[in-house]
Amino acid sequence: MPGIWIYSEDSAVVRQLLTAGLELKQVMQQPVNVITLNPEAAPGFANAGADRVYVLAGTNPWPESYAAAITGILEQEQASVFLAGATMRGKDLAAQVAAGLNTGLVTDALSLQYLDGAIETTRLLYGGLAVCTETAALPALVTIPPRTFAEAAAQAGQGEIRTIEVENTDDRVTVSNVCPILRQGADIAAAGRVVCVGRGLARQEDLTMAEQLAAAAGAEIGCTRGIAEDYHWLPSDRYIGISGQKIKPELYIGMGISGQVQHVVGIRDAKIIVAIDTNEKAPIFEAADYGIVGDMYEVVPLLTAALQKK
Ligand SMILES: Cc1cc2nc3c(=O)[nH]c(=O)nc-3n(C[C@H](O)[C@H](O)[C@H](O)COP(=O)(O)OP(=O)(O)OC[C@H]3O[C@@H](n4cnc5c(N)ncnc54)[C@H](O)[C@@H]3O)c2cc1C
Repeated sequence: MPGIWIYSEDSAVVRQLLTAGLELKQVMQQPVNVITLNPEAAPGFANAGADRVYVLAGTNPWPESYAAAITGILEQEQASVFLAGATMRGKDLAAQVAAGLNTGLVTDALSLQYLDGAIETTRLLYGGLAVCTETAALPALVTIPPRTFAEAAAQAGQGEIRTIEVENTDDRVTVSNVCPILRQGADIAAAGRVVCVGRGLARQEDLTMAEQLAAAAGAEIGCTRGIAEDYHWLPSDRYIGISGQKIKPELYIGMGISGQVQHVVGIRDAKIIVAIDTNEKAPIFEAADYGIVGDMYEVVPLLTAALQKK
């Protein structure tokens, strides 16, 4: 039966995709189905609006190895839409599914709607300088970045849960070692407040000034690419932008950041942007809700002291 299908290996992303899927359902009048590898998360999805949840039970722990099984289900059920989370693994899997179905794939969509029998999507191009609108014929395969949509809330009623046994052993690939990524501090992509440091910072030891502001504001520390990749003053999972993390905090405070588009694309979803820069013509002020033209070495201690008083 035609339907809207959702997959992500990340449960929070599944709930975000459910929000997008449920919006499509209203217009397309087709059921929303979730495919998951996680039996424990299935009841939560069934409770958040999924009409059906298919739990794939296979012998291989790697999500990518389920691409053929997912392709088979979408083909057999004549899926209209397949939404996958644009995580590293989700992108890999979605590309394999698209190849299996011999169809196209829209990546990193920021919005989507059903229009004239097709799915119309938008995504950013040229580092966020342009918005590209594309139309994908059905079946439309689309990846959506994490946190593009809010998570679907629990609803009255409960979808059905089915388990499907999957044969997915592939002897061509063996995993010899798994190394977890060691993160220092919290995940800035999920932080509610971020103090971000740019190359206006003169010395590494001056990071203390940013840390004090962050502590007073209850924020995590982020940075621009140069601070992480050129100076190595902060780990690379702290830099924000098109090739780094995309953040969506309530509050972003940038200190000594010029605001090049490659950075701004990672902060544009912040609710409030505060920028401190000596150069009144710095492009960051175009993105900022509040701009302070001044030397951060004077402004930041004053701001920190004011916040500490609160
Ligand atoms: C393909 C590509 C991808 C990229 N991806 C990213 C990315 O993901 N993230 C990213 O951040 N960048 C990225 N970049 C780099 C990006 O183009 C910019 O070079 C970078 O964002 C600039 O960092 P910045 O603002 O810290 O430094 P600068 O541009 O050097 O700006 C420093 C600012 O500090 C101000 N300043 C100096 N002293 C003070 C002071 N005492 N008080 C207050 N202000 C002061 C200056 O006026 C200036 O505006 C990418 C570039 C390319 C080509």
